[in-house]
Amino acid sequence: MTKTRLSEEIYRAMFENAGVGITRVDLKGALVDINQTFCDMVGYTRDDLLGRPLSEITHPDDYNEGAGFRNQLTHGAKKSATGEKRFIHKDGSIIWVQRTMSIVNDDEGEPQYVISIVENISQRKQVERRQMIEHAVTLLLADARSIAEAIPRVIQIMSETLGYAYGARWVLDPTDRVLHSTESWCTAEPAVEEFRRKSTSRIETETPGKPGGLNRTVWATAAPVWIADVEKESALKRRESAQQAGLRSAFAFPIPVGGEFYGVMEFFGREVRPRDERILEIARTVGHQVGQFIARKQAEAALQEANDQLTAKAQQLSRSNAELEQFAYVASHDLQEPLRMIASYTQLILRRYGDRFDGDAKEFMDFIVDGATRMKQLIEDLLAYSRVGTHGKAFRPTDSGAAVQKALANLRAAIESTAGKVTADPLPTINADEFQLVQLFQNLIGNALKFKGAQTPHVHISVKDEADNWTFSVKDNGIGIDAEYFDRIFMVFQRLHSRTDYPGTGIGLAICKKVVDRHGGRIWIESSAGMGSTFWFTVPKKGEDVHD
Ligand code: ADP
Repeated sequence: MTKTRLSEEIYRAMFENAGVGITRVDLKGALVDINQTFCDMVGYTRDDLLGRPLSEITHPDDYNEGAGFRNQLTHGAKKSATGEKRFIHKDGSIIWVQRTMSIVNDDEGEPQYVISIVENISQRKQVERRQMIEHAVTLLLADARSIAEAIPRVIQIMSETLGYAYGARWVLDPTDRVLHSTESWCTAEPAVEEFRRKSTSRIETETPGKPGGLNRTVWATAAPVWIADVEKESALKRRESAQQAGLRSAFAFPIPVGGEFYGVMEFFGREVRPRDERILEIARTVGHQVGQFIARKQAEAALQEANDQLTAKAQQLSRSNAELEQFAYVASHDLQEPLRMIASYTQLILRRYGDRFDGDAKEFMDFIVDGATRMKQLIEDLLAYSRVGTHGKAFRPTDSGAAVQKALANLRAAIESTAGKVTADPLPTINADEFQLVQLFQNLIGNALKFKGAQTPHVHISVKDEADNWTFSVKDNGIGIDAEYFDRIFMVFQRLHSRTDYPGTGIGLAICKKVVDRHGGRIWIESSAGMGSTFWFTVPKKGEDVHD
């Protein structure tokens, strides 16, 4: 025995007691020697394996990996090499190993064997694989725009990473109570493609008491199903076509959406595979991820639809508002002309024939004149009201203090006749239609003077600077209003008093509301009968013209 070689005894001891698997393979790839650890790893006895090619227990996708290495080593290119490969365990499961191979030469330096140290890394691989799938699916679902776009990619990632040849999603049609396939993926092999075609054209119907092989069982139990060997699964309707395509195992799991059964994801693979809880664990996670994604997309779609409906309604409303405004404008404008005729001809009759009228006729003529005058006022008010929408000016920075002063100038007669006092805090510059702002203050202050109580009227205007708005108030010490009328007073021609008590047509506050609306604000009143009133209105600081 030469110094350079280990004694047979030492070699044996190391070989047998090593915590890692050791194989010795001849140059044709046949197993010459294996230790117990290796046998345990792959589930065979030494007798099962000795003399047989290593390729018999190698995963088909890794056939070339070992032969390639052996070639390199025996041709002297390298002395040793390391790589990962898959063995198929006796029970059909896949064993991932890390292998370090060295060449053993005889005394003449001729290569004789390849000795490999084999370490089981399946556990690590499983963890890596799981992380990879979950990570890839998370990224994919975060970016995907639609379910139809995302699912085929999810199926592909799962199939490729877990080693499956075909996958599909099935969705429950809740009305017809059937499952039908929506998206699918398969490897580019004619036989598998044919299976995919046959499979996805199926419709699974509910069969109480006979849950079927795969999808229908998942549907009936809302739990994952594992088919280790398709051949042994007589309940599987697609057994024959799967076998024809070389597909020998399958699994499927439910997709829950909002806690309800929504559909199934299924996969078919080429090898017989014992139930693998780790794969089912991944399936459960992916099922939930996909379910959440679907729920999110459904919520988004519902929101979008509601939004679209709302936008359509808003457009419709603004169209009919504009039409109404136009109608009110045209009607009131055109009514003025015949009214003017009535008024002037009545006056003419009075002038020419007045002295021939008896008492009754005179009184009747007075009613006609009074009616025509009132109608004129109403029509003018209506016209003013419709002009708020149709004749508004663009918003510009406007000194609201100056607007109050203009309103007061217009109200001089009323202030003098009531001896009223009008005071105001310093007021800001706001974004508004100046003419309409004057109109707004004029109507509010005018009312405050008009609806005065026993005391001399005192009106005070102030403003609050709020985050998004200016909130103005016009406060008086007048007769006040009962809360039950708060809404009514802002409507066109709605008044609470007779014309003899307080003159007016009931349009003033309707105009105020329209002006405030157009500026994007809100108007309301705080009052109680006999206690004075405070009118509040806001003007947004952004000052968008909501009508234009
Ligand atoms: P008008 O002043 O022509 O009656 P408005 O639309 O301006 O029409 O007002 C509607 C009604 O609201 C009034 O008839 C009155 O009853 C009530 N009102 C308005 N302003 C005040 C106020 N400052 N104090 C008490 N009541 C008021």
